[in-house]
Amino acid sequence: MQLQHLLGIEPLHPHNITAILDLADHYADQNRSGVRKSDALAGCTQINMFFENSTRTQASFEIAGKRLGADVMNMAMQASSIKKGETLIDTALTLNAMHPDLLVVRHPHSGAVDLLAQKVNCAVLNAGDGRHEHPTQALLDALTIRRSKGRLHRLNIAICGDIAHSRVARSNLILLGKMENRIRLVGPETLMPAEIGAFGAEVFHDMEEGLKDVDVVMMLRLQRERMDGGFIPSEREYYHRYGLNAEKLSHAKPDAIVMHPGPMNRGVEIDGEIADDLNRSVIQEQVEMGVSVRMAAMDILMRNRRQAATEAKL
Ligand code: ASP
Repeated sequence: MQLQHLLGIEPLHPHNITAILDLADHYADQNRSGVRKSDALAGCTQINMFFENSTRTQASFEIAGKRLGADVMNMAMQASSIKKGETLIDTALTLNAMHPDLLVVRHPHSGAVDLLAQKVNCAVLNAGDGRHEHPTQALLDALTIRRSKGRLHRLNIAICGDIAHSRVARSNLILLGKMENRIRLVGPETLMPAEIGAFGAEVFHDMEEGLKDVDVVMMLRLQRERMDGGFIPSEREYYHRYGLNAEKLSHAKPDAIVMHPGPMNRGVEIDGEIADDLNRSVIQEQVEMGVSVRMAAMDILMRNRRQAATEAKL
């Protein structure tokens, strides 16, 4: 069965992941060259529905759709009928009646995007649902790692900080695990998820131990909007113990790369100088790869839809 939606990393096979990354690699090269336009999504209507704030992801999906020739519409969710009491599903059904080909959805509730995908007859891409999944982020992180390290397997990767509230951590754990990497989770006990045992990752509460000899250091923001209590004593104390600085990074391999999905809180989870150090930080490249990965994912979903429609007619 070919992919009809991109709702999470969980349902993907390693060969699906590799196929998306290979096509994204091609788009990344094309985006760097002068020729940025293609007509892979010509005639397609893409609607972006973001029920949670976003800078990078929304811009990236919009640019990706436009580069592929789609007609892209950004719904202003703050001004939509959701504010008048309409449910998510009614809004989705209303939009569905206008025959879009792609819906890109971000929602604060885990599982909301999966539910929506069951109600519409177009392709749905999850742009982040609660603390559940953020599949295109994990794919763009994977592409950044693969391009920088030359492979995406048997790497030692540390994911650090607020793991408990992070959909980025969850999608990365699943993807990097499927591709057979060794994953370490580093952070205070209060910010580790309850189901930690299910992921087969090693857990560390000390940065120096956790970062020892790793190839990749992935930092995460404190997801305050999903916290309902005091998870850390203070930001100052947190930075002291878990903020990435040159001293802590010196325990990783000398060629280890530093990643962050953004938005970044300098002086809380990461020192500004490390974030800006182009010899170590690939944070800007992550943003760049985001456009290519989203182009690839939407291109593949549309091709699969067209193929399914042709087969249904035969
Ligand atoms: N931008 C990422 C997300 O939407 C990470 C973050 O917000 O910290 O999950």
